[in-house]
Amino acid sequence: MKRLLLCLLAAGPLLLNAAAPAPAPMHKPYGLVIHGGAGVIRREELPPALEAEYRAQLAAALAAGYAVLDGGGSALDAVVAAIRVLEDSPLFNAGKGAVLNAAGVCELDAAIMDGRTLAAGAVAGVRHIRNPIRLARDVMERSGHVLVVGDGAEVFARKLGYTLEDESYFQTDVRRRQLERARQLETTGQPAAALPAGTLGRGVTGDEYRVNEFKFGTVGCVALDQAGNLAAGTSTGGMTNKRYGRVGDSPIIGAGTYASNGTCAVSATGYGEYFIRTVVGHDIAAQMEYRGASLAEAAAATLAKVARLGGTGGVIAIDRAGHIALPFNTAGMYRGHHLAGGEAVVEIFQ
Ligand code: ASP
Repeated sequence: MKRLLLCLLAAGPLLLNAAAPAPAPMHKPYGLVIHGGAGVIRREELPPALEAEYRAQLAAALAAGYAVLDGGGSALDAVVAAIRVLEDSPLFNAGKGAVLNAAGVCELDAAIMDGRTLAAGAVAGVRHIRNPIRLARDVMERSGHVLVVGDGAEVFARKLGYTLEDESYFQTDVRRRQLERARQLETTGQPAAALPAGTLGRGVTGDEYRVNEFKFGTVGCVALDQAGNLAAGTSTGGMTNKRYGRVGDSPIIGAGTYASNGTCAVSATGYGEYFIRTVVGHDIAAQMEYRGASLAEAAAATLAKVARLGGTGGVIAIDRAGHIALPFNTAGMYRGHHLAGGEAVVEIFQ
């Protein structure tokens, strides 16, 4: 009896604590998550020097976005800041270094969404815009439309004073070789024989003939700012050897890009056709809204739907409380996150 009493006395403060409200966090939840594409990215196949370059660029993008949020800036500004860094890097399939379509040119797609108002803007099939995410934002804020494509988008850009880049600005030797490989695979059904290490440039080895590995590489960012607003953005060159005029999921609001303050912000990467058919971004948000799923549950369930159709890829997502989810069903996904009170984290492999 005496022992029981002692136990109860000892447990008293714990029981009281359990009933008391959780202590307020030391900081408002804010932060961002980025991706640089998902695919067959294996540690043993990524040369260390190239891996270091990827990590450095992802870290630079995270830092650019986080600086905006840390300074009290908006989630939208953070998304644009982070994505511009990745668009300007030739490593990623967006802006400079985008993959080539079947006609041998880069056709770029991008979208942005403001979770506060559900305002959204997107461009598809643009060929001369250095930072398509910037133009997507201008579509959202200055065009009165949501999605503007091809020449029309570029006429709009010119009106706003954009400098149109020559197509050669976007094209790299690595992407040209990937297109050759993809064409070969299409016509013969056989991948080209492995090439000697280094012949594909930037230290990429002959394993590159597995064209699938290189179809992805889209970039995206989701952010939560100090005011509690969410935003999402995605930018891509699409898929190597895609048909001229093909548009993927990235600029389709509700598929590759979605944000709503009531639920979450999402950016996807992967085989776009499957992500459009599964309406990935909105499906994640809808599960949270309609059945009270957590962010992690909703993201996993939606990605499982993509997989059931045969699609591969991944998503990044953040909710208003600062929970994040980064599921993918490929060997790797270039990704990173930085949440207030924590460290910047960059990861590539499973
Ligand atoms: N989802 C993009 C598309 O299908 C490709 C990617 O994520 O790399 O256009």
